[in-house]
Amino acid sequence: MPLGIYFHIPFCKKKCNYCGFYSITDLSLEKNFIDALLTEIEYKKKILKQINDKYNQTTVFIGGGTPSLLSPENIIKIIKKIREYVVKIKEFTIEVNPESLTEDKLKIFRDTGINRISIGVQSFDDRILEFLGRPHRLKDVTKSLEMANKYFEC
Ligand code: SF4
Repeated sequence: MPLGIYFHIPFCKKKCNYCGFYSITDLSLEKNFIDALLTEIEYKKKILKQINDKYNQTTVFIGGGTPSLLSPENIIKIIKKIREYVVKIKEFTIEVNPESLTEDKLKIFRDTGINRISIGVQSFDDRILEFLGRPHRLKDVTKSLEMANKYFEC
């Protein structure tokens, strides 16, 4: 039986009009949050190891919020820390938004073992994106899809 583990990154560039998720825009808290998350993972390492031993098809999802907003250094820290205790990961996903996705981050995702990208698009119509309060536009979506295709298979 597969088992999924979810890590929530609560930062966003701006709050979308319809959003019901827990997210904040104060990125000055990024360092404190990452330190706390790494400590929490260390604290729960026994449980994570048990999951790793018991399940052959673990999936990990780093969602949010907007995980792609994190600095490359912090993304690496989180992924490495998770992989210290969960090694049998069948599907390792990170959620990204078009306005904060870069080639450098895509390279990091691929090189650290992420094998699935979830891109938050919502619409290909700029008027709807504006109505929803999304910070990206169609041109950002097109660019992020083109970049993602270089590093991940569709
Ligand atoms: S990007 Fe997602 S999590 Fe962030 S405010 Fe918009 S809907 Fe909410």
